[in-house]
Amino acid sequence: MVPRRLAHHFRTTGHLARSIIGDEEKDESPMRVAFLGPPGAGKTTHARELAREWSVPYVATGDMLREAVAADTPLGSEAKGYMDSGELVPDEAIIRLVADRLGRPDAARGFVLEGVPRTIAQAQALDRFLEALGQSLEHVVNVDVSEPELLRRLTARRVCGACGTTLDASSPPQRTGVCDSCGGQLYQREDDREQTVRKRLDVYGRQTRPLLDYYRGRGLLDTVSGEGPIETVRHTIRERAGIPRR
Ligand code: ADP
Ligand code: ZN
Repeated sequence: MVPRRLAHHFRTTGHLARSIIGDEEKDESPMRVAFLGPPGAGKTTHARELAREWSVPYVATGDMLREAVAADTPLGSEAKGYMDSGELVPDEAIIRLVADRLGRPDAARGFVLEGVPRTIAQAQALDRFLEALGQSLEHVVNVDVSEPELLRRLTARRVCGACGTTLDASSPPQRTGVCDSCGGQLYQREDDREQTVRKRLDVYGRQTRPLLDYYRGRGLLDTVSGEGPIETVRHTIRERAGIPRR
């Protein structure tokens, strides 16, 4: 951990200083957390809610990429093929996307990362980026779920085309194919088809699982079982991450 005075120096001399200097005065303790875990573990459900509770931005590369695809931006057209086939989007694009987001003023005092970093290269880039800002990650939550359960959850998942609500295996719609909240039509994400799900789990095992050791080695890793009721899982995460260790 960089001492606060030094951190101040880094921040005010860093290349992003102009954008965050206005927030310097407040000295609340920062909350910088990343959620790791295989697809289908429920990272999104927990990360989004906890970011809201902690009043820090929720930074989910999957969502950001899907927005880029929907808006047909250059990033979106680069990413789409990888996403549909269950492959990872190249590190360079992800690193740029995340650096851009974390450099904004609202992320100066904390953030929740979800679905990123996903490779060792992304984790190293994140470390370097935060170090230049005099910041560091404080806590990494690994949401752990068995493979058969992941497969079951992912292939059952449906999304509403109208309001964007995700319905998972634990909350099936009352009428098949119809959104409970708005009556919109439900569809299956291209990458939730079984073959692609298997591919995503395989990619996770090869490219992302090594990050567990990376963060364990830094004393940041906290593994929480993602099976069981949502509120129980969230409570465990909240208890353990709520007070950053210093
Ligand atoms: P899930 O966690 O359910 O697999 P996400 O919504 O996080 O889904 O990501 C969907 C897809 O977006 C991934 O399969 C991958 O192609 C791409 N993606 C998201 N985050 C990253 C990342 N950090 N690095 C590379 N690719 C990513
Ligand atoms: Zn809906």
